[in-house]
Amino acid sequence: MAEETRTAGRRAAGAAESGQTQRAARSAAGRRSRETRPEQVVVADPPPEPDYPRYRVEPGAGVRLADVDPDESEHFGRKKDAAPELARHRDRIADLQARLYGENRRSLLLVLQAMDTGGKDGTIKHVFQGVNPQGCQVSSFKAPSAEESAHDFLWRYHQRVPSRGMIGIFNRSHYEDVLVVRVKGLVPEEVWRPRYEVINQFEQALSLSGVTVLKFYLHISKEEQKRRLESRLADPDKRWKFSANDLRERGYWDDYMAAFEEAISNTSTDVAPWYVVPANTKWYRNLVIARTIADTLEAMDPRYPEAEEGLDQVTVDD
Ligand code: ATP
Ligand code: MG
Repeated sequence: MAEETRTAGRRAAGAAESGQTQRAARSAAGRRSRETRPEQVVVADPPPEPDYPRYRVEPGAGVRLADVDPDESEHFGRKKDAAPELARHRDRIADLQARLYGENRRSLLLVLQAMDTGGKDGTIKHVFQGVNPQGCQVSSFKAPSAEESAHDFLWRYHQRVPSRGMIGIFNRSHYEDVLVVRVKGLVPEEVWRPRYEVINQFEQALSLSGVTVLKFYLHISKEEQKRRLESRLADPDKRWKFSANDLRERGYWDDYMAAFEEAISNTSTDVAPWYVVPANTKWYRNLVIARTIADTLEAMDPRYPEAEEGLDQVTVDD
């Protein structure tokens, strides 16, 4: 069964790009994963694969960021062309999140990583519109405090992993410990390199306890970052977002690309896949991420608990 689910997902993923075939394959894969008991999907098997072969980094295959076009937007020309689909996915996420919360057995962890101005904040704002704030927890990770630095590097992240029923969003994450830490030489290579394996084991352990992990790298070009930084400088209402540190980090662009490429290639696994999302076009980025989240939640198939028996006979006193 488990293998069947995976194969069905792959088959769907590999199906022709054209509309009808792809839709048929997707719904077949959807049917298969709904037939599977949710805990088997999440615990005994990788999370079901949403149908995005171009953006999902296949485990073991690795990724070359230069091969992913940050300007991609499928057949959508303008924001309003994509708006109806985005609205649909938002509704799906809101409904499925309510079920996940009611079920109170499993959780979803989303990891967002990007260069400065890459759109992590904008993604959270746009994709989670309409979701009950009670069922979501956003954790933003900056440079570690003295207390955090005094522990193993995963300590502060583990504490913020979503509890049962919750969606957790990591705005930056444990990946900083193989990204900024490597690029800025904060620890030697003998320390950061083994972390790929530690991270894979951590995510595997989470998956075994019912946490589905999805990771998104928001892929912008260096030119797009320049435009976004300039627009922050030019707009009085955006100036507060500008930080001189962003310019310093920009100076390490190529080193960051190499670090992202290696980190993503080494840590995209069946239980915690990476998606490299074209992100120069903000509304397209939102659409891809919303779709992926909605499809993953749908395949998890969270269900409201059974109501108590005999409720039909219950009356409420005046
Ligand atoms: P925004 O700029 O939108 O507010 P941000 O995530 O860029 O969001 P900043 O306060 O600008 O927030 O930057 C946080 C900084 O913390 C980043 O430069 C990041 O590299 C750094 N950081 C995060 N985790 C670590 C870590 N584990 N070790 C060292 N630096 C880290
Ligand atoms: Mg910043």
